[in-house]
Amino acid sequence: ASTWNSVPAGGVTEAFNKDTNPLKMSLGVGAYRDDKGKPYVLNCVKKAEKIVFEQNLNKEYLPITGLAEFQKLSAELAFGKDSGPLNAGQIVTCQSLSGTGALRIGGQFLSRFFPGTKKIYVPNPTWGNHHAIFKDSGLETGLYRYFDKKTNGLDISGMIEDLKSFPAGSIILLHACAHNPTGVDPTPDQWADISSVCKSKGHFIFFDMAYQGFASGDATRDAFALRHFVERDGHQVMLAQSFAKNLGLYGERIGNFSLITDSASEAARVASQVKIVVRPMYSNPPSTGARIVKEILSNEQLRSEWHTEVAGMAKRIHAMRSALRNGLAQHGSKHNWEHITSQIGMFCYTGISPEQVGRLAKEFSIYLTKDGRISIAGINPGNVDYLAKSLHEVTK
Ligand code: PLP
Repeated sequence: ASTWNSVPAGGVTEAFNKDTNPLKMSLGVGAYRDDKGKPYVLNCVKKAEKIVFEQNLNKEYLPITGLAEFQKLSAELAFGKDSGPLNAGQIVTCQSLSGTGALRIGGQFLSRFFPGTKKIYVPNPTWGNHHAIFKDSGLETGLYRYFDKKTNGLDISGMIEDLKSFPAGSIILLHACAHNPTGVDPTPDQWADISSVCKSKGHFIFFDMAYQGFASGDATRDAFALRHFVERDGHQVMLAQSFAKNLGLYGERIGNFSLITDSASEAARVASQVKIVVRPMYSNPPSTGARIVKEILSNEQLRSEWHTEVAGMAKRIHAMRSALRNGLAQHGSKHNWEHITSQIGMFCYTGISPEQVGRLAKEFSIYLTKDGRISIAGINPGNVDYLAKSLHEVTK
């Protein structure tokens, strides 16, 4: 027998690809699909690509920290143009290999320079890769309570209790908006409480912002938590930004890492060390994605087109949430499915059991991750009724 004979197929995608049922649905992937179930390239991206192409630029290496104008525009998008630390030159930035790369730079930097305990607390549950990224960066991971299984909503009291119980000066990872996998975000008031507690405990905050604009359709609104922490409470946060979802630039691997320091001179010292972190990992980042984003964010017309398109994506996602919830009701489901429409972003944490997930795959050819997470992006007017009917069948 072959050496690898007993290696089982991993992942939901493989099982989906093998399935021959014409009604099959893939609800595992974290990428946007249009109303016909197809990948979607934004018009503003197509236009920016054309502009970049016509500039006939060379393919020289970018600096270690990437394209400077891109970094500036990304930081402005996240922190706001009138951000105090931004305008005081206190924010160190570095172009990254999308959100994952930014998390990895941050993890590595913390592991090397964080003066306190090298342990990062992440929500329970969180995006699975967080654990792996931080472990490989040399950090230990811990959990804080986040999701309440009983309400399919936020366990705010458990979360606050945990944040209070951690040693002063701990590292806390927060999802800035559209929490993955649960789709459950704190309200602005709850964010204010979380920020105050973290401030009084002297916790260090690492924001993961993979969905700015994609969550609510409004990039400013989605930056509320980050800006509140920074501007009201003076948290010197670290930030991982991704342009995978909000600009549909998944495969371009374009993101940005930032870190707020105390002064311009501290920023210079920190920036020099960020370069030393990046250099042995991949020398310098790719140029195309950075050029595209720079073009969109610096061009009034393309930027406004982007705002319209990202709002359109968020709207479609929301419409599919409503359609699924209505469909369940129409098929006679007696469960409370309110969380389908109250959760936001790409995902819905349905609350169904691993057994029910198994039945959906086996009996209905509907594939999702074992934790019961549905990628709403995979739902469209053509398959939502089949999903509602099948989901009702396995939850009767
Ligand atoms: N962080 C969270 C919470 C995510 O959901 C994702 C993508 O699914 C990422 C970060 C990073 O994605 P990327 O590296 O493609 O930007």
